[in-house]
Amino acid sequence: MSPATNVVVQSAYLVATALFVFSLHWMNDPRTARRGVRAGVAAMLLAVAATWFQPQIVHHGWIVAAVVAGIVVGVPLSRVPLTAVPQRTALSHAFGGLAAGLVGTAKYYLWLAEDPGQLTAFRMGAIVAEVLLGFITLTGSLMAAGKLQELRWIPQRPVTYPYQNVSNIGLLALAVLLGVGLIVWPTGAFAAVAFPLVVVLALAFGVLLVIPIGGADMPTVISILNSYAGLSAVAMGFVLDNKLLITAGALDGSSGLILSIIMCRAMNRSFTNVLFGAFGKVQPAAAGKDDRVYKAETIEGAAQVLEQASFVVIVPGYGMAVAQAQHRVRELYQELQKRGITVKFAIHPVAGRMPGHMNVLLAEADIPYADLVEMDEINRDMPQCDVALVIGANDVVNPAARYDKTTPIYGMPIIDADKARTVFAIKRSKNPGFAGIDNELYFQDKTFMLFGDAKAVVGELVKHLASQRNAG
Ligand code: NDP
Repeated sequence: MSPATNVVVQSAYLVATALFVFSLHWMNDPRTARRGVRAGVAAMLLAVAATWFQPQIVHHGWIVAAVVAGIVVGVPLSRVPLTAVPQRTALSHAFGGLAAGLVGTAKYYLWLAEDPGQLTAFRMGAIVAEVLLGFITLTGSLMAAGKLQELRWIPQRPVTYPYQNVSNIGLLALAVLLGVGLIVWPTGAFAAVAFPLVVVLALAFGVLLVIPIGGADMPTVISILNSYAGLSAVAMGFVLDNKLLITAGALDGSSGLILSIIMCRAMNRSFTNVLFGAFGKVQPAAAGKDDRVYKAETIEGAAQVLEQASFVVIVPGYGMAVAQAQHRVRELYQELQKRGITVKFAIHPVAGRMPGHMNVLLAEADIPYADLVEMDEINRDMPQCDVALVIGANDVVNPAARYDKTTPIYGMPIIDADKARTVFAIKRSKNPGFAGIDNELYFQDKTFMLFGDAKAVVGELVKHLASQRNAG
């Protein structure tokens, strides 16, 4: 590469890196999130263009084919509903892991065939890290996506067997040992067996890592896999001697790790517990066996109570997302505000199916950010709350998380909806939530169910309140 071309490429990489950093920073806040997405897209375009621009790239046909393949897969993936974004994200990580694993494997065999002297200890270390992390990310992410998509042939519940952690750690240790062996003996008979074995062990470990983990821990697993994908990109950057891959991978790896830690705290799961699956796991209690009865309320009755309240807290959950009820919810919020009622939204960090799910939906419906209150803050106000209106939320308001050690959500902090004076809960049936357990909240004396689709029920409430206001 001529010095001038090198300057252009490295400068483009520097700008792309800066844009990636700003992109992450802007995505921190819903107000600047769109700008963050645009900056990320611009950075990626610049990175691809600058790489393509390099004179050593001669087979342009392959790059065009890869871009077309990316578009063919990427466009339908971008159109999935918001509720399916976690599994879509897991699939993206799987593609990242596959790319890293394949590049590492290709580079190894290429150097082995053409110039084994290139396989220095440093390069072999990077290749082994890339291949291990890449293939673990591939199968781990595919399993996570399958679990979240509720594919019939992938069990949703944790799959456990005796000595599971010991055998899993043993498998990983064997892969790492073989990797160390490859650094010492990168060529010859040992390497001929060890390299494919490392690939197979990594693929197997990805599957075994995820099967003992229950659905409720899946968001954390996805962000851990996100950080693995980032770290494999860092290793790939060292293998290909590409600084942009190193910085972008480091950003990806560290942001995934930070998000996993935040989510572990939100779900009160220890990091090792999630990483190694079944440590300290409890069996989920069977749902639906409870023969206590729910009390149902009519739209008119609920509207009457709401009208008399002075402080209402709306607790949105996955069901609001499924029903796409956010615009009706905004109308309800406005209808209550017109009566001088204070209305706040209680945002649980893992309500819905991805971090920030509720924030995205409510922002889309133009609900002011100031009224979206994080869990710890709103819980302080719950005892003063007249009505908690739970819309399609279940696990995140289940008081069993506080005391019932037999439930999979034990220890997860919850929104204290049960501390409000009256609770209305909108859902379609008596079915449990994501963790598959009955909800104590629904059986309390102060709780009244409004059965039906969230969009329809909230719409009815709005209609009734509006007609009352017009009549008055
Ligand atoms: P849950 O999944 O616990 O419950 C959702 C409730 O919504 C269900 O009980 C369901 O009851 C109801 N519902 C579904 N569709 C509708 C509809 N159209 N109208 C009205 N109600 C509906 O949701 P939560 O938000 O409370 O909890 C999230 C769970 O998901 C947690 O366990 C969390 O750990 C897990 N999770 C979170 C992720 C994240 O990052 N946020 C990612 C993956 C999992 P019914 O069928 O009777 O209507």
